[in-house]
Amino acid sequence: MHIKSFKYRLRPTKAQEQQLAKHFGSSRFIWNYFLARRKNHYSLNREAIKASNVKALNYYDNAKELAELKTQDEFVWLSEANSQSLQQTLKDLESAYKRFFKKQARYPKFKKKYDKQTFRIPQHILIENSRIYFPKFKQGIKVRMHRNLEGKIRNLTISKNQRGQYFVSIACQVKLKPWTENKNTVGLDLGIKDFAVLSDGKIYDNQKILNKYEEKLKYKQRQLSKKVKSSKNREKARIEVAKIHNKIGNIRQNFLHQTSTDILKNHGTICIESLNVKGMMANHHLAKSIGDASWSRFVNHLGYKSDWYGRKLIQIENFFPSTKICRHCEHINQELKLKHRIWICPNCKRELDRDFNASLNILKQGLNKLNGGRNYRQKPVELLPVGGAVEAGSSIVFSG
Ligand SMILES: [Zn+2]
Repeated sequence: MHIKSFKYRLRPTKAQEQQLAKHFGSSRFIWNYFLARRKNHYSLNREAIKASNVKALNYYDNAKELAELKTQDEFVWLSEANSQSLQQTLKDLESAYKRFFKKQARYPKFKKKYDKQTFRIPQHILIENSRIYFPKFKQGIKVRMHRNLEGKIRNLTISKNQRGQYFVSIACQVKLKPWTENKNTVGLDLGIKDFAVLSDGKIYDNQKILNKYEEKLKYKQRQLSKKVKSSKNREKARIEVAKIHNKIGNIRQNFLHQTSTDILKNHGTICIESLNVKGMMANHHLAKSIGDASWSRFVNHLGYKSDWYGRKLIQIENFFPSTKICRHCEHINQELKLKHRIWICPNCKRELDRDFNASLNILKQGLNKLNGGRNYRQKPVELLPVGGAVEAGSSIVFSG
């Protein structure tokens, strides 16, 4: 059984918009309030927590405190929102911490009023005659079902983007049929210049189209900064900026989905380097940080989709110097800098394309890991044209 999400546009009435605003607000309040509680509790008890004398706050502590909070006059408005949604926010906060401790995500952030707004509904959901029903919304909200829903509904996420559009994302439990077996193997190098370079010579990149919108975004942001605060024109300019942000986000998301699906369709075994979250956080360069965010989402897509479709994803440790090793003679070139797109191996004197060479090393290392104790040797490879294609896995021969 797998979880698949379906996203649809919502058309709430004015009254429902107000009711939704209360839910977004309460959910954001709960998130921020308990994130602050956890942070304060930790900084006050740091030493005791490290010595295991005091426990860090968890979901159960937060849920107990929330119940008490709701009995106080000051917080009585919290009862206007679906209580299960508020508990769900606490669960989401708990998962955010868990992902952080597993080094899969950054430390949870406070939510702002002008960001995308969300809240979740874990149960009591009904969809009928193009309306979606859940607690506190007895009349049902109009929903545009532009494609069919599959499987059994597990939960809902309601969201409002910065343009003021409403959406519902419905997580469903579905039975997916694995794709037919595929014996192709491939190594993937994720980069800044090209998004992904494959060891079969294929390159995936969407930067050109993104550049166009990023230029536009810069222009609109400059326009916005010139407008008088809290004026009508400023609000208009803010929506213009939000629209482009939205567009960029959608392009990026479609690209990550299409690329991950395409790679998994064409290969049975995919080798990549695991991403180093710590290294990512240390990097403040903008292009790099955008790259990082896309990479971790991409690796995440590859992970669950390979599970859905019966593919194998192999992650190799990131201390493996995939870029610096010559794939022909295995000489490690410590002198290699980021600016060197093409380099000549100081040992065997062969010319190497940086990313393509790395992808072949990742493939080799991945298959080595997959085959554990088995020996492999590298067949002598003819010099390839830069960026040229080789058949996937053709340079690897198993001898065990
Ligand atoms: Zn060499």
